[in-house]
Amino acid sequence: LVVIRRRKALAERRARAASVIEELEGIFSTPIERLRLIADEMVEEMHRGLTSDSSASCLKMILSYVDKLPTGDEKGWFYALDLGGTNFRVIRVLLGGRESRVAKQEYEEVSIPPHLMVGGSIELFDFIATALANFVATEGEEFHLPEGRQRELGFTFSFPVKQTSISSGTLIKWTKGFSIEDTVGKDVVAELTKALERQGLDMKVTALVNDTIGTLAGGRYEDQGVVAAVILGTGTNAAYVEHAHAIPKWDGLLPSSGEMVINMEWGNFRSKDLPITDYDRALDFESLNPGEQIYEKMISGMYLGEVVRRVLLRIAQEASLFGEVVPPRLEIPFILRTPHMSAMHHDSSPDLRIVAAKLKEVLGIANAPLQTRKMVMAICDIVAKRGARISAAGIYGILKKLGRHTVQTEKQKTVIAMDGGLYEHYSIFSECLVDTLRELLGEEAASSVVIKLANDGSGVGAALLAASHSQYLGFDES
Ligand code: BGC
Ligand code: MG
Repeated sequence: LVVIRRRKALAERRARAASVIEELEGIFSTPIERLRLIADEMVEEMHRGLTSDSSASCLKMILSYVDKLPTGDEKGWFYALDLGGTNFRVIRVLLGGRESRVAKQEYEEVSIPPHLMVGGSIELFDFIATALANFVATEGEEFHLPEGRQRELGFTFSFPVKQTSISSGTLIKWTKGFSIEDTVGKDVVAELTKALERQGLDMKVTALVNDTIGTLAGGRYEDQGVVAAVILGTGTNAAYVEHAHAIPKWDGLLPSSGEMVINMEWGNFRSKDLPITDYDRALDFESLNPGEQIYEKMISGMYLGEVVRRVLLRIAQEASLFGEVVPPRLEIPFILRTPHMSAMHHDSSPDLRIVAAKLKEVLGIANAPLQTRKMVMAICDIVAKRGARISAAGIYGILKKLGRHTVQTEKQKTVIAMDGGLYEHYSIFSECLVDTLRELLGEEAASSVVIKLANDGSGVGAALLAASHSQYLGFDES
């Protein structure tokens, strides 16, 4: 009798699991027609964001003041500083012009203590400036600036900034894990410069760029076909090269190139066609920035694992997925990180050993039966693929805006420079994105579009822009 009852319980659990997965597949679904609608809304919002009324759109479409991309002629030693995710990097490069290109490159990566992401502005900038000063102190023999010249720096600051020139801009809002009230509305270059002065470091910020802009510049330096850059990392965003005459809100002089790079801030995109679930609504509501960055919260590395955790928690509560008691660690926000999710999702062992190990290690769930592990895997798949597919729709939208979504007559490839740990390390995600973009474009048009991983191109990109906006331009090279 006991055996029969157990079998019955097992059968019931299976049926329940199947119906739960079916329900999730429904609410997270992204059929191709829906992706086309999302892409069209992206294009519409792009247009709206380029008009003068900046509140008219969920896309800020920020003018980067970058109207010429690197040519290859850039020369000399430059610094770059990259702040935006969980780590920040300081970089020193020797640009050698057309022959030697990036002749030397040194960098250091420092992780940002979490309390500094939600503390005071001065503390954060002092921390950055200290790390930069320590790095400057390691300059080798070969480092050389012509007499009387200041060190120059490209500052990659990966948050929404209203640029006021190529080397200044005020913070609109923090995103990702950052929330420091007193920086909002301030010129981040001025804040950094003051912190550098407090360190006694004589250095000039000659370019302030978003990571998308840095990646686009670094990408173009490598490949002339690059017309857009996308970041899929802790956060997500895109930038692209726009015709200056297609930017009604640009009231400055028409740049001689006729072009201007636009930072879309697509993380804040929203659309009635996005498959937003109750899990997303709850995540947003409890986040550091409720109501903001809705698209980012469905896509990027900071949030994917958290969406999965919320789904697991609900099934644990309502369908006893992990037994009678809800595992207490499952209730801790952000405990399941996207790298854990990715590791589980890529588990190819027949008994899903890695899933079991992660459940134990991260959530304290021991001995999850195979059936349960399979369900966890299925949930990772549903959440990751929704993110990958709506990202592909966004890229398709950009290509549409550029008129590069159809079969091109010229041989020139359309290249999208891509950066970010999510794209780089979560291969099921990136493969799904590429497949979906191909499906949206159709085979023939897809054959002229390339997504190129520009691994940490934004650092070199910022250094290149620091060089092309150097205060010494026009002076003799030496
Ligand atoms: C920020 C963008 C940034 C992106 C990727 C987003 O949260 O708003 O400025 O480009 O993350 O780092
Ligand atoms: Mg980065």
